Amino acid sequence: MIPVRGIEGQTIAVLGLGRSGLTAARAIQAGGATPICWDDGVAGRDRAEAEGFEVRDPARSGGLDGVSLLITSPGIPHLYPAPHKAIAAALEAGVPVDNDIGLFFRSFATGDWDQFDVSPKVVTVTGSNGKSTTSALIAHLLEVAGRSVQLAGNIGRGVLDIDPPEDGGVVVLELSSYQTELARALTPDIAVFTNLSPDHLDRHAGYGGYFAAKRRLFAEGGPDRAIVGVDEPEGQFLAGQLSEGAADDRVIRVSTGRKLAGPGWNIFARKGFLSEYRKGRQVASIDLREVRGLPGAHNHQNACAAYAVVRTLGIAPRVAEAGMHSFAGLPHRSQVVAEVDGVRYVNDSKATNVDSAAKALQAFDRIRWICGGLEKQGGLEGLWPHLGNVAKAYVIGREAEHFALGLGDGAETEVCGTMERAVERAVAEAHPGDTVLLAPAAASFDQYDSFERRGEDFAAQVTRSLKL
Ligand code: ADP
Repeated sequence: MIPVRGIEGQTIAVLGLGRSGLTAARAIQAGGATPICWDDGVAGRDRAEAEGFEVRDPARSGGLDGVSLLITSPGIPHLYPAPHKAIAAALEAGVPVDNDIGLFFRSFATGDWDQFDVSPKVVTVTGSNGKSTTSALIAHLLEVAGRSVQLAGNIGRGVLDIDPPEDGGVVVLELSSYQTELARALTPDIAVFTNLSPDHLDRHAGYGGYFAAKRRLFAEGGPDRAIVGVDEPEGQFLAGQLSEGAADDRVIRVSTGRKLAGPGWNIFARKGFLSEYRKGRQVASIDLREVRGLPGAHNHQNACAAYAVVRTLGIAPRVAEAGMHSFAGLPHRSQVVAEVDGVRYVNDSKATNVDSAAKALQAFDRIRWICGGLEKQGGLEGLWPHLGNVAKAYVIGREAEHFALGLGDGAETEVCGTMERAVERAVAEAHPGDTVLLAPAAASFDQYDSFERRGEDFAAQVTRSLKL
């Protein structure tokens, strides 16, 4: 655990008692302050009480008496579409609002680091898509290179739950826009911005707010190195703002598709090859086509970003390349769950928005595509250019018919409704060389508790249908 520093004797409210909230309460207590815990759900309050924490509603009259800070969980709206009532009460009373990420950054470094040969480093990964894959890949590449590494944030452990770092240790944090928008301290050593596409716009009052939340990591943090995907104008803007000129190698530009041979430090993937260029010359190249855990151009973007991070930490290109080959990929993200009679079955249940599903459609061809679910804002037009790779779409979800209509006439579609039916139909119709791909382009909540359950159901139906 990382005890929170600089809070001795204070009373601090903790709102939201899931994994990160309870960890925050413990870290606050370890730092010599008193946490006051609240969750709108009884289960969370019971868990806090069972640990001996005081439970009190900050929104109740007098609920914030003596409280110096409110720590909130990422799932709770703090501003848009409207602040949660406990946060509204704190804002009104002038009580600062922060989160576990802010507490982490102000508590991580300690006096003991004087004894270390190499100071620990914090790497943050943010962006719309590819955060988990990139974070996990960075951690894997560092492990393969023999470095001490901990993965935390949205993936791995809660940030305050990690072990105090060793000499030369690296902490890789995957951060969402909710977390970066609120954290009062954000000081990574290396910050990665993968890409930007519309998501969670209700929580940020639109696209500009969403981008602003993500770019705080760079603007406020002032990292030693910024690794920025420059395939969208926002990434280009950010890279331009952070560097003092095209040759400034504190910013590493990353692209998929475009050759970046400018005077600075550039890493790009084209036609399945990763290239590293410095000062206009090629330094290294990796053939990504045979890297099974990272299929498709979107994963090549993740590979470039992760490669950039480990290069800045002194890892040799050949060591990084070997690590990519041993990366197993993450569950529910382009995960091959079966390969039978020449047909590949791929679970990309995490493709919950149009952009990530479009990427999955570009990663394979002759796709028997299982899609549909709870549609997100913005329509399905973003998928249309990629329907050429689709042999047929099998649509699931409560609004399957509406979803199928949204696909236009670019692909043959069949309204299946359930996963069971969709998998059955896809299995029956697949030919050798086809890929049966779950990439829903929608949230799962109309039929499942989470995208994980949806992906597990897909894998189970594949097993059942193929009688494996
Ligand atoms: P995040 O943590 O940002 O949600 P994940 O690594 O979990 O990202 O991947 C989420 C979804 O986006 C998956 O469906 C995955 O296949 C797809 N994806 C992964 N990397 C990228 C990328 N660089 N660009 C677009 N989509 C991606």
